[in-house]
This record gives sequence, structure tokens and C-alpha cells, in this order.
Amino acid sequence: MEIAEAEKLAADLRRQIAYHNRKYYIEDSPEIEDYEYDGLYRKLESIEAEFPQLVTPDSPTQRVGGAALAKFSPVTHTVQMESLHDSFSEQELADFDRRVRAAAGSAEYIVEPKFDGLSVSLEYRDGVLSRGSTRGDGFVGEDITDNIRTIRTVPKKLKRPLPFIEVRGEVYMSHESFARLSEKQELEGEKPFKNPRNAAAGSLRQKDSKITASRKLDIFVFNIQQITGADINYHDEALDFLRGLGFTVSPFYKKCRTIGEAIEEVRRIGEMRGSLGYSIDGAVIKVNSFAQRTALGSTAKFPKWAEAFKYPPEEKSTVLKSIEINVGRTGVLTPTGVFSPVTLAGTTVSRATLHNEDFIKEKDIRIGDTVVLRKAGEIIPEVVSVVSHAEGSKPYKMPDVCPSCGAKVMREAGEAATRCTNAECPAQLLRHLIHFCSRDAMDIDGLGPAVLRRLTDAGFVKSPADLYSLTA
Ligand SMILES: [Zn+2]
Repeated sequence: MEIAEAEKLAADLRRQIAYHNRKYYIEDSPEIEDYEYDGLYRKLESIEAEFPQLVTPDSPTQRVGGAALAKFSPVTHTVQMESLHDSFSEQELADFDRRVRAAAGSAEYIVEPKFDGLSVSLEYRDGVLSRGSTRGDGFVGEDITDNIRTIRTVPKKLKRPLPFIEVRGEVYMSHESFARLSEKQELEGEKPFKNPRNAAAGSLRQKDSKITASRKLDIFVFNIQQITGADINYHDEALDFLRGLGFTVSPFYKKCRTIGEAIEEVRRIGEMRGSLGYSIDGAVIKVNSFAQRTALGSTAKFPKWAEAFKYPPEEKSTVLKSIEINVGRTGVLTPTGVFSPVTLAGTTVSRATLHNEDFIKEKDIRIGDTVVLRKAGEIIPEVVSVVSHAEGSKPYKMPDVCPSCGAKVMREAGEAATRCTNAECPAQLLRHLIHFCSRDAMDIDGLGPAVLRRLTDAGFVKSPADLYSLTA
């Protein structure tokens, strides 16, 4: 590559990365998958490695990312909250081991899952929670103490009144809480979060901590940042100690004597990563001895004693057996593909959303097709592409009538969704009732979404009129 071309490409990549950083860190609403982002980042890194004169001080490769938001007061971290270097191949893990052994002689490793949420710091004085903050850019984060207090797995008081301890953990939303939140948001006409990580980040940065409390967040604590009143020398010792204080630590981790053993464990975590009930975005290999960690130190950006491994998105081909149409509570017809079951990231996948008519048309998805399914860090599988059509197949056509009530469906110009036009459509009953009872309409007290849902599920209410004939 010529330098002029490289310069143009680097500038373009920086623009793209800055845009996606903003979407990810500030707006909690990313537009691309993590591995796509990693691809852009790595491309920029390789150009800068080839042409070091092109490195600019504001290049995203020179910063840690995640600027603090203005709505919370800043917290300067006494101990930097570093991010880890990512590996994408086992070869890179072996290289990491070689560097560690060259500097430290021999090393023992701890392998643990890398939780996919929002990194926070918790400080306790005399055993009482005194402050919680986000990681921010690693140096300065946001004070979110009030919101942190609402998380049920964050102890407000430790089992032992240490003079001072600061720990680091990952706040996350379980898949169960995420599913419940998405359903609720959809019912109330809000846009659901793209994935549990964004939901966790968005929930943690609420100005109103009551909203945070309603979101059912959790935490895994994985590191001691600072401590007085105890002497701890190994990472596994630290995890046991943290558990003893009342923290929730990783449900599993393994001590490994060789990198071969560690890689074996990384593979094992990868095979079960889709079935954990919470999202992980990789595994981490850490040097166990704190004395060795101190000796190894850090580069400008990363500690030299730990290495993250990112799993590639898993893809498999399978056959599309049928397309089911479901009518949502907002009247939108959503096509779902039903596939011959395949195993992806440790879970059996036989269904994936086909989103809408445009998605199907764009990929020319037909019943009987052989398609590629993918499961990335997300919990929801997706159709990547069509490999081949079955013989004699025809382009798919959305139904003309609502499968729930038989009324005509329509698609507004400029909208991707196909909707049922019937105001009395039973599939939309609950949403109509919620609106009917809301302050904007009839202002009926005591009939919130949860109660209405129970009434419709039990079949007690089939129309708004039924609400008036209910007897207690
Ligand atoms: Zn209908």
C-alpha cells in the first residue's frame, strides 16, 4: 500500500470507529456487532503498525475509549481500571504465554469467563458501601452510587468490616431479566434495547435510580483494586476472599499450570457460552501471582499479565423448514424462520426471526432454502445468508390477512412493518387495554399492565367493556 492511500484509509477508519464508539459508549445503541467493530479496529492498528508516521494522538488506538457522561459527577480512579488486550486465535494466547515466561520464568494461570456488561468500581469504608462508579475511560468514571445501591447482588455491608476495599466488577442483565424488560418495553411502545449489555449500561446510567431498581441488574465481582487490612497474594485467593466478604464472584474459574491447560479451558468455556443465562464476550487468562503481575507491569494500554480471548461468531448451515407469522401486541406481523435444529454456541437453535418483508426480500429467503445461521455475542441467532434455494422454490410472500383475526393487513409507505388493521384484533387486546386504562384515556386506577396481563391470560377480559363487569 502507498502511504497516500494508507493515510486516506486510516482517516476513514478513525471516522468510522469514532462514530461507533459514540453509539456504543455514549448512546448504548450500537449499530454493528462487536466482531465487526474489532475488524475495523484491527485494520487501523495494522495500518498504523506499517506506517507509524500516520499515528495521530487522537487516534482511537491511542485512547482507551468510553468518555464519561456529563450527567453524573466524575470519579477519578486511584487505581486505573485497565482494559485487556484481545486475542482472536490460540496462537496469540501461546504468544502471550511466551512473553510471560520470558519475563517471569514460570507462571500459573487462572482462566475465567469475561462477562459482557458494564465495568464498575465499588468502594467500602469500614465494611459499608461508600461509592460506586463506572469505569469511564479507565481514569475517570461517573458516580452512580445511588443506582449501584439498587442492585440486589451488591452487598451494602460486608461480612467483615475492613477499613477500606475497592473492588471491580461487571454489572450485567441476565437473559431472563432482559426478556422480561424487552416484553414490557414493547408493550409500552418503547424501543427495546439491542442486547443485555446495552440494557445493563442504559439501566445503570439512569438519572432516576427507581428505574435502575426496576431493571433487575446483577454483578460479578472479579478483582480487588485496593485493600487495607488484609494481605492477599494470589488471584484465586482474592476470589475466595471476596466471596467470603459477601460478593458474588464468577461461578466458575480454573487454575492452570500450563498454557495448554488454559487453552483447553478457554475452549470449554466457548462450547458452553450460549447456555449460561448471562452473556459473556470471551474468556480471560490471568497470571495468578500478584508479585509476578507487579513484575510484569503494563504497556501504555494493557496489563501484560492478562489476555482476553474473543470467540469468533459461530455459523452453521441448515434448512429453513417453514416460516411462521406471529402477530405481536402492537399488531405487527413478524415472520419467524423454523429450521432443522443446529447447535450454536452451546445451545440448540431451531428458530430465528426474519424481521420483516424487506429482510426476506433482500436476502431472497424461501422455504426449503439452505441458509447460514449465526450466533455472535448476542443471545439471538440470525440468518446471515442463503446458500442455495431448493428446486422449484418460489419467492416468499407475506400473508394478506392477519393470522390471528383474518382482517386485512397493510404496510404503510416508508415502514418496514406489516400490520393488522383490525382495532379489535385479539392479538392486540392487551395493548388496547393498557392504553384504555391509561391516564391518557380512561384513567382507571389499579389496572396496570401486570394486572391486565393476568386478566387477559386467564381469559377474564376479552374487550374493554369486560373491565366494567369484573367482580372482585
Ligand atoms: Zn389481527
